Amino acid sequence: MPDMSSLLLLQGISKHFGKDKLQAVDSVSLDVHRGEFIAILGPSGSGKSTLLHCMGGIEFPDSGTVTVNGVTPRSAGEWATLRSRYVGYIFQAFHLLPTLTAAENVEIPMFGVLQSSTKRQRRALELLEKVGLSNRASHKPAELSGGERQRVAIARSLANAPLLLLADEPTGNLDTSTSQDILHLFQDIMAEDQTTLVMVTHDQSIAAHASRLIQFVDGKIASDSPNLSAAGGR
Ligand code: ADP
Ligand code: MG
Repeated sequence: MPDMSSLLLLQGISKHFGKDKLQAVDSVSLDVHRGEFIAILGPSGSGKSTLLHCMGGIEFPDSGTVTVNGVTPRSAGEWATLRSRYVGYIFQAFHLLPTLTAAENVEIPMFGVLQSSTKRQRRALELLEKVGLSNRASHKPAELSGGERQRVAIARSLANAPLLLLADEPTGNLDTSTSQDILHLFQDIMAEDQTTLVMVTHDQSIAAHASRLIQFVDGKIASDSPNLSAAGGR
């Protein structure tokens, strides 16, 4: 159950690209509470990824503020610190480094946070176990299935025990049954670690499990409502 205290607060954020002033995100305000599972739905090109990038400090809005866990970063350096402490990011295309093993990929965000390489390795193995991949730790991404790659990416996103997970169409490249497995993994993580999840998805069978549904159209929130028919836990 959400406790209604704000974990992520967007206040009037806008982001445009190019000279034609295409407004990808248009003065969006949003309050994300701890424990929520928000699904963001909307047409392709409506600005969902740009919105998520702004939430995680991957891109910076032209105006407006983003506050995470009470902190409003004002520079790229402040964002880097905040991101590594509080935010985990998961992409549709996994974004794993091909020359590194699964375990090494999971370790990447720990550099700068965990000094001891033994501790990093131990934590990476714990996380791979959590996502059901202990037996794939020394495999390279090319040796893994799509679902396994996304599990590695999820393990990596959890490296520094984030409060907030941002996932951009995380099941977009996966078949239906693998997508459901990934949904269950997210549900287990939310239940065990009290993680808050904001997910962009086109998949209605995944959005059905969210506690709150946001429709994003032309850079704006067209509707925002609790999912009263939420399919709930597993
Ligand atoms: P969605 O994720 O909903 O498909 P995006 O956020 O990716 O939408 O894109 C919103 C709009 O912003 C699109 O018109 C897209 O072409 C444009 N856009 C996104 N990123 C960039 C960029 N880096 N440079 C220029 N235009 C961009
Ligand atoms: Mg997108």
